[in-house]
Amino acid sequence: VTLRRGFKTEASSLAQQVRNELGLKSIDPLDPLRLASHVEIPLIGLSDFRDEIPNPVRHFSEINTSEFSAVTVFDGTKRLIVYNDFHSKGRQANSITHEISHGILLHRPTPAFNDMGCRDVDKEVEEEASWLAGVLLVPEEATLYIVRQRMTLDQAAIKYGVSKQLVEWRIRMTGARTRVNRPSSYSRGRR
Ligand SMILES: [Zn+2]
Repeated sequence: VTLRRGFKTEASSLAQQVRNELGLKSIDPLDPLRLASHVEIPLIGLSDFRDEIPNPVRHFSEINTSEFSAVTVFDGTKRLIVYNDFHSKGRQANSITHEISHGILLHRPTPAFNDMGCRDVDKEVEEEASWLAGVLLVPEEATLYIVRQRMTLDQAAIKYGVSKQLVEWRIRMTGARTRVNRPSSYSRGRR
């Protein structure tokens, strides 16, 4: 699946708009909890359901932790996000921001499970949410900053509150290394 034409530009301006509303500069880290309250989407950690549904919670927190990251639950048009708070903070940030991105992009609610009982996901919509989440958490300017400052992936992951994998992916997507290392032809205003 490839992102539709124009989506990346759209995502960048949406992300910038949201970051402006939060009073963040393009190299500032974004706190997904602040973002959630800004867009008025309540967040509930999986651990909150421990008493009500102990078995599923145990399953996703101890046995098969990677199976569940986050999901948007709809009540009419209202969204709320249930996320796996047993994951690392960096991973939680990405999962939460991914779900919020579905909201920002006004993706319609889709049934979480199809008739066969499998996750029924629309690949294009998923890619859009993942892309926007990456741009929100680690904007293009931030990737250039990380490379210019010669931060390690670990340092950048800590600064931006995300996983190393996300930092690495964003740096690759913006071509930050090439742009910083060849300033004359790449760094000025090229997108
Ligand atoms: Zn999704």
